[in-house]
Amino acid sequence: MAAAEAALHKVFGFERFRAGQAEIVQTLLNDEDVLAVMPTGSGKSLCYQLPAILRGGLTVVVSPLIALMRDQVRQLQGFGVNAGSLNSAMDEAERQRVMGGLRDGSLRLLYVAPERLVRDDTVALLRNAGASLLAIDEAHCVSQWGHDFRPEYLALGGIRAELGNIQTIALTATADAPTRADIVAKLFGDERRPREFIRSFDRPNLHLMMQPKSSAKKQIGDFIAARRGLSGIVYCASRKRTEDLAAGLQAMGHDAIAYHAGMEPRARDAAQDRFLAEDGVVMVATVAFGMGIDKPDVRYVCHADLPRNVEAYYQEIGRAGRDGLPAETLTLYGLDDMRLRRLQIEEGDTPPERKRIERQRFNALIALCESPRCRRQTLLAYFGEESQPCGNCDLCQEGVARFDGSVEAQKVMSAIARTGQRFGTEHIVQVLLGNSTEAILRHEHDRLPTFGVGKDRDANAWRSILRQIYGAGLIDLDIAGFGGWFITDAGRAVLKGQQRVELRSESLQAGKRNTAKSKSSAAEIALSGPDQVLLAALKDLRRRYASELQQPAYVIFSDRTLIELAVKRPRTLWRMSDIHGIGQAKLDRFGQAFLDVVLAHDEPAESAAD
Ligand code: ADP
Ligand code: ZN
Repeated sequence: MAAAEAALHKVFGFERFRAGQAEIVQTLLNDEDVLAVMPTGSGKSLCYQLPAILRGGLTVVVSPLIALMRDQVRQLQGFGVNAGSLNSAMDEAERQRVMGGLRDGSLRLLYVAPERLVRDDTVALLRNAGASLLAIDEAHCVSQWGHDFRPEYLALGGIRAELGNIQTIALTATADAPTRADIVAKLFGDERRPREFIRSFDRPNLHLMMQPKSSAKKQIGDFIAARRGLSGIVYCASRKRTEDLAAGLQAMGHDAIAYHAGMEPRARDAAQDRFLAEDGVVMVATVAFGMGIDKPDVRYVCHADLPRNVEAYYQEIGRAGRDGLPAETLTLYGLDDMRLRRLQIEEGDTPPERKRIERQRFNALIALCESPRCRRQTLLAYFGEESQPCGNCDLCQEGVARFDGSVEAQKVMSAIARTGQRFGTEHIVQVLLGNSTEAILRHEHDRLPTFGVGKDRDANAWRSILRQIYGAGLIDLDIAGFGGWFITDAGRAVLKGQQRVELRSESLQAGKRNTAKSKSSAAEIALSGPDQVLLAALKDLRRRYASELQQPAYVIFSDRTLIELAVKRPRTLWRMSDIHGIGQAKLDRFGQAFLDVVLAHDEPAESAAD
């Protein structure tokens, strides 16, 4: 392991292993199979890259996305490692280089898309090249339970056998127990059991915040305005929404661009390249964006619309703060979102059992939105982890006032019951408020005893109460029928006064809280004035390298590296190699130029503690 640590420092420039990495590297070096379940951003790739470099031989990495392969290959080459990929988008010169590397055994890592790998000629090629380790990234794609199922992944178990049962590591960030069992069964079969490593899903550097939606444009706009110059992603539920919201944010003066799968490939690539290369771009995207985008310095992720479920939420917010520095998240939720997601589940062309699981996963997300408990506790509990209140979420920081909402819940459910359990939110709310709308008069609902019993609160307050008692399981939506609310067994218990229900009073003021403020704002990664100036100069140099080499900025150096340079101000190359992210290859390549910038900003002397 000493050799592994030395390589970690010399090749990657990292000081120490992150949690879980050392054990996995060790296990691979012992020739055992591995299933690694680790959150996005926790450094899964290093787990097979390091053994690949240390042991020599050829490591084949299966990865579903060309963008991801391209990124990883670039990064490895940046570290001075001979890596390449086989894909349809590569040019002839690159193909020649890769083939040459396979022939003479100098290629350490080869990235291949699954549809390429299953071809006979590819298998033969890899067998001849003496592939010794198979790394299967995004391994949950093998599972039909998951949302990213890819049929080609089912063939991977067979490929492994054809390659002479080579040692295999499967990696994923998807944590459900059913998915895990499925991965093992499909990739390893019965005869071989991989050693399983499951790392905590906590990402303490992510600040978690969720808010009822009033106006997404205003709420997101305010949030971004307080974080100008930082890179962020805003997820929307549909292509049209991305375009509308991007336009709205642009009108507010933000550098926002839209991204979705329906765009021209060229425009889409251009948008992605800009986001990767520049600071301060806001990517307004559908979930088509992000899987495999390894931009470590995304400082915030917003959801303008509710994600599909807790897994999706966690994956998507996980794209912020992969460098481990503070990053923020804001998720907006409204009843319309909830209805849309429910509809998508019910209308989907999936078997009933799958729908049941999807419903449970979605309900867990609603509970996360509405629960008064620390967000992280609720989130981790979903992944089977117990934890203490985190201190880094909106509920921990702002607290949450609760009250006995049994009477309010009864009023709502009584309105639902007396109107025949057929009506949606707006109608119910109008009945409670006592407004004689056309529909209410037509159905004679103004004659009901519940008509107007909710005059003491406004429409938003009642919408919030509906959401909350929905989250608590007291009412449900009859999606297959009229789309109206109906009362569940749990709801009937509250209606009869047998059970009580607690509601959050604070969230009744939809959208009134200030999205701009958060106590651990990523915007406040505190640097002194002179350090800021130096940092700006370093970023400038990085930008020039990036455009000259046509590489994303972080491939040159990460934000974290530049920040450390600005604060620690090393005065020699030798000192510089102690900085996070500066290994031998980068030191040789960029060291002197960045050192010159540091020396030119000769403000405070190198700190004595250094
Ligand atoms: P994952 O695949 O788990 O989402 P990656 O493998 O892409 O995550 O790693 C995320 C980021 O963390 C990358 O920028 C990577 O270079 C960095 N990283 C990985 N291991 C370490 C480490 N031991 N120390 C510092 N940074 C690391
Ligand atoms: Zn918390």
